[in-house]
Amino acid sequence: VEAPPKKTTFGPLADQDRIFTNLYGRHDWRLKGAQSRGDWYKTKEILLKGVDWILNEIKVSGLRGRGGAGFPTGMKWGFMNKPSDGRPKYLVVNADEGEPGTCKDREIMRNDPHKLVEGCLVAGRAMGARAAYIYIRGEFYNESSNLQVAINEAYGAGLIGKNSCGSGYDFDVFVMRGAGAYICGEETALIESLEGKQGKPRLKPPFPADVGVFGCPTTVANVETVAVAPTICRRGGTWFLGFGRERNSGTKLFNISGHVNTPCTVEEEMSIPLKDLIERHAGGVRGGWDNLLCVIPGGSSTPLIPRSVCDTVLMDFDGLVQAQTGLGTAALIVMDKSTDVIRAIARLIEFYKHESCGQCTPCREGVDWMNKMMWRFVKGDARAAEIDMIWEISKQIEGHTICALGDGAAWPVQGLIRHFRPIMETRIAEFQQKDQARA
Ligand code: NAD
Ligand code: SF4
Repeated sequence: VEAPPKKTTFGPLADQDRIFTNLYGRHDWRLKGAQSRGDWYKTKEILLKGVDWILNEIKVSGLRGRGGAGFPTGMKWGFMNKPSDGRPKYLVVNADEGEPGTCKDREIMRNDPHKLVEGCLVAGRAMGARAAYIYIRGEFYNESSNLQVAINEAYGAGLIGKNSCGSGYDFDVFVMRGAGAYICGEETALIESLEGKQGKPRLKPPFPADVGVFGCPTTVANVETVAVAPTICRRGGTWFLGFGRERNSGTKLFNISGHVNTPCTVEEEMSIPLKDLIERHAGGVRGGWDNLLCVIPGGSSTPLIPRSVCDTVLMDFDGLVQAQTGLGTAALIVMDKSTDVIRAIARLIEFYKHESCGQCTPCREGVDWMNKMMWRFVKGDARAAEIDMIWEISKQIEGHTICALGDGAAWPVQGLIRHFRPIMETRIAEFQQKDQARA
């Protein structure tokens, strides 16, 4: 399928093209309500079309993982499509949404749980999986209750379980609640936790597709990725491909928090300009666009971008990589000019230090070191040369750890130095002046 031409303008997403219609709490999330909005429609037909057909629609759609890494979904699910030496295959849904600023999956599970349950069945069929485990963060108590109600309803209606939807395919769905550790959102730590062990990431390879939960082939996929699959199959991969631009297709959930007038979660077309997203859906920046200092565009792991970049950047994988940051979880944290940006980043590094599992030295020691230095930078109690030193430490952490938590701690520091070094230097100079005055 030919990719759509590169777009230059993006209008607001039409209501009929929204997949998550229920996100604003306007509808009944129970089975009857979900069915009246098109969920569970022709699911049997989709299942009967078989593995290759489903995989092909997902590949054609250009869908990329919505958990943060953006790996092509069709390719990832296709890794399961090989002999498994008699081992059962599993789908694990990563609902351990812990990235600061991010709450898009929570909205799906709270307001549209049937989308996820049906998504498990369709995605599970594409992988030949025996069952799905939804690993949900412990703090999402109400959401896990809604999900369990939806699962029970689906079992009761014969939609999942033995002979799901009358398709001849047997498929179970289980919910497992986490216990509050951010690191359990990393896919291999999540698998360890699901197996009843401490949530500590494993070295990859082997990838879960080869050795996953209980030693069996497993795909760990994000809630949003799984929940859009049935709609893509119903409306066709080319329909989804028509949104956004080449390599960045589809619709997407965005969280907008911080210094905006109306913080929100909204579904929009991929590649929408960041400025339009904030002005159209979040009531604009507090005090007006000129009062904007910077934005963290994709959850706390993505480096901040200053106002000058925010003026023109597109909210998609390629646009944000070009801006030396990333789409990540598509959770925008907006900071206006009243923000102490050094303090904001220091607070994030403290979070990563707290959540590090401690297995690898660059993360355990390096992030602790960055945390101590960042709090001195907040006061200005540092030497200017230490700005280069913390940059170097962040580079020693980046890419040298078992999992992405180390990178996630390094990148915010790099973003701060890249764009706000003069503020750090001024803070240090002011501290030194006060120190001399005191002496
Ligand atoms: P990754 O790039 O290592 O992997 C992406 C996915 O592709 C994984 O499922 C992996 O198993 C699979 N994969 C990659 N190469 C493969 C291969 N050769 N064979 C088989 N499978 C392969 O990234 P990751 O560590 O899974 O995710 C990191 C991202 O997660 C960060 O960039 C961050 O944005 C995001 N994140 C999200 C949250 C959240 O709350 N949603 C929290 C923390 C971090
Ligand atoms: Fe643990 Fe950090 Fe290493 Fe990840 S990078 S395995 S969190 S020590």
